[in-house]
Amino acid sequence: MADTQTTISDVKLFLERLKKDLPEIFGKDATKAAKEGEPNAQPAPENTVLFNGDLFPAQMYLTPDQEPGVAFDGKAFHVYLQTAQDDPCTLVTDWLKNNAQETLTKKTADWAQKMGVEFNQIFIKDQRTLWASCSGKKNLNFSYRIVKMPPAVQDYLMVHELGHLTYMNHGAEYWALVAQFCPDYKIHRRWLNENRDAIFADVQLTYTPPQGQPGSTTSETQPPETSQETK
Ligand SMILES: [Zn+2]
Repeated sequence: MADTQTTISDVKLFLERLKKDLPEIFGKDATKAAKEGEPNAQPAPENTVLFNGDLFPAQMYLTPDQEPGVAFDGKAFHVYLQTAQDDPCTLVTDWLKNNAQETLTKKTADWAQKMGVEFNQIFIKDQRTLWASCSGKKNLNFSYRIVKMPPAVQDYLMVHELGHLTYMNHGAEYWALVAQFCPDYKIHRRWLNENRDAIFADVQLTYTPPQGQPGSTTSETQPPETSQETK
C-alpha cells in the first residue's frame, strides 16, 4: 500500500531529523556525546515544540496588553506572554492538552464507529508512563502527549485501545483485529518504542527579552503578519 511506504519514510525522516536536532532526547549516550562535543552531536534547537510528529519553532512575544495565550499557524507556535514571568512551557503544555482533548476525543469516536465498538467515557490525562489504557468499565484513558506523535501513530493507539473493548488481552485474535484496521501497526509500535523519551519529555521553552530596552518591542520580537489572524 502506498500509505505504508509514506508512513515508513515519514517516520524515518522524522527520526533522522530528531536525532540530528535533539540528540539529548535519544538517551544518555547522545547527551554525553553532545557535552563532549563529538562531531555528529548537535545541541538541541532552542525553543521548539514537538507536535503531530514534527518539530515547530516557538516564537515568544511580550504583549502586556493581552491575556497570555498560544496560537499555532501550522508552521510555528506563537506564544504571547503578558509579563516576562509568564511561563511559556505551561502555556504551550496547556495548549497541547486542549488540542489533545479535542482531537483525541474526535479520533476515538471516529475509530469506534469504524470498528463497530462502543466505549463509555474518554479521559485525557497527563500519564507519564503509559500512552493509553482501557478499563473494564469501557473507559479509555489517553495521555495528552499522544498529540506529539505523527497522526498515523496516534490512530494506531486509538485502534489499539478500542481493540481491547473486544479482546481484553494481547492474544493473536486481538492483533488480527488491530491489523484489520491498522495494517502498519508493527511500524507504529516500533516507532513508539524508539521515541518514548521524546514524547514523554516536557516542553522546554525559554523567553529571552529583547536586547536593548527591556520590555519594549523591537523588530525582532514583532509578531509576524500571519499571527494577527491566528491570534
Ligand atoms: Zn494493549
